[in-house]
Amino acid sequence: MDSLTDKDRRYLWHPFTQMRDWMAEEPVIIESAQGARLRDTNDREYLDANASIWTNIHGHNHPHINAAIRAQLEKVAHSSFLGLSNVPAIELAEKLVRAAPRGLSRVFYSDDGSTAVEVALKMALHYWVHRGQPERRRFVAFADAYHGDTVGAVSLGGIDLFHATYKPLLFEVEHVADAAGLKSVLEKHGSEVAAVAIEPLIQGAAGMRVWPRGLLAETRRLCDEHGALLIADEVMTGFGRTGTMFACEQENVTPDFLCLAKGLSGGYLPLAATLTTDRVFDAFLGDYAERKTFFHGHSFTGNALGCAAALASLEIFEQERTLEKLQPKIGLLTEELEKFRALKLVVDARQCGFIGAVEVGPYPWEAKAGIRICQRARELGVLTRPIGNTIVIMPPLCVTKEELRQICDVLRRAIAAALS
Ligand SMILES: *Cc1c(COP(=O)(O)O)cnc(C)c1O
Repeated sequence: MDSLTDKDRRYLWHPFTQMRDWMAEEPVIIESAQGARLRDTNDREYLDANASIWTNIHGHNHPHINAAIRAQLEKVAHSSFLGLSNVPAIELAEKLVRAAPRGLSRVFYSDDGSTAVEVALKMALHYWVHRGQPERRRFVAFADAYHGDTVGAVSLGGIDLFHATYKPLLFEVEHVADAAGLKSVLEKHGSEVAAVAIEPLIQGAAGMRVWPRGLLAETRRLCDEHGALLIADEVMTGFGRTGTMFACEQENVTPDFLCLAKGLSGGYLPLAATLTTDRVFDAFLGDYAERKTFFHGHSFTGNALGCAAALASLEIFEQERTLEKLQPKIGLLTEELEKFRALKLVVDARQCGFIGAVEVGPYPWEAKAGIRICQRARELGVLTRPIGNTIVIMPPLCVTKEELRQICDVLRRAIAAALS
């Protein structure tokens, strides 16, 4: 009989993975998990140092989320959101509006971060059609941005390695490097811009690059000055990752669209939401024959299991005082990053709330320095995924101080071992 490893190699195609390398290596096959720890089919345990690609919030196998999903499962797993509603989707929408920056009042559900961004793009364009300004059809994003892998989201993206190949499929987007660049584009084309998209406080897939303080607020101000809408992509930063529930809070910004996914369901199930304002919502109201309807939706929009998990996750934030308990861990991460800076091979260590990143180098990306470090860390019981030469430290918010220290110790040893 074929082993799971054989079958994986024979039948699967993994995301963002050079499959020739993959098939030559021994895969880690996860079987179970608890808190910040994952366990594989060989009964080896690993600390989940990137929160299962930035999704997990309160830990794996959390009793409260498990119970909420089980209870919902006994009622109904999924029913269409087209022409119907469901109980957890309604309750979650109310909770999200209460938790989000003031002024965001409507929730449109979808499936993942990419679709949350697609929804914002289409709503923004359509909004201006309704407002009688169809010439507002340009989008502006930041250099090295990452907003997902569907074609609209890739159009907004600015990471050549991922995005350049698909150029023939993409619509044109102005990419700007900073506030000055944004100002100049808006001064030139402001009256044609539908929306500006930003990853608030920190760019994730670009390599955990922290924006200068004030860039987000300045982006909001420039959008207002030129009448453009603001899309805040908090797919990564949402749900406590930067130390506050949402990154936008830290610069007192209310975007016109807030895109949420990854941590929304506690990292349990694919669920996303695009929040928007009354102003945008109201523009879509009219007689059916006026064709003001937002013609967009997915089969699993408003999925009841996902919404039940998300509701439970938000309840845990209150019950366990997650954000309050996170603050000393953010302090510990600061101390640990300082120790990385002392290493000869480390060129930079960055932090934004509970997101840490350590950059080694300089090495050309083909040298796979980051990949080699993470392979070594894996042997030492810590799982994370590099972005080029940058090692991500982003465990579930529930990680203990002891576990966080262990993650950082292992990563320092892995850097020394992999690059010596
Ligand atoms: C991960 C991510 C996305 C895409 O989300 P998916 O669920 O992978 O489609 C979009 N924006 C940001 C900032 C992300 O980190």
